[in-house]
Amino acid sequence: MDQENFGSYKNQRKGNNGGLMLAKYIITSECIKCEICVEICPIAAIEEMDTQFVINDTCINCGKCIVVCPIDAIKKIP
Ligand code: SF4
Ligand code: SF4
Repeated sequence: MDQENFGSYKNQRKGNNGGLMLAKYIITSECIKCEICVEICPIAAIEEMDTQFVINDTCINCGKCIVVCPIDAIKKIP
C-alpha cells in the first residue's frame, strides 16, 4: 500500500464524530461504484461520501460485501 492510499484509508476509517470505526473492511479507490456491495449489505453500512463509497461505523463485519465485489475493491484491514 503506498502512502497516498494509506492516507485515504485512514480518512475512510473516521466516523462522523471523528472517532475510529470498528469496521474490519475498507473500500479502496479501485471501486467502480457498481453498488453490488450496497445492495448485499444487510444493514446498509455502505454509503457514498465525498464521491467515493465508504463503510461506515455500523458495519457488523459480516464479510458479505467482500465476497460480492466484482473487482476485489474491498479489502480486509490487517
Ligand atoms: S462487512 Fe457486512 S455489514 Fe460490513 S459493510 Fe460489508 S456487508 Fe455491510
Ligand atoms: S461491489 Fe466493489 S466495485 Fe462495486 S460498489 Fe462495492 S466496492 Fe465498489
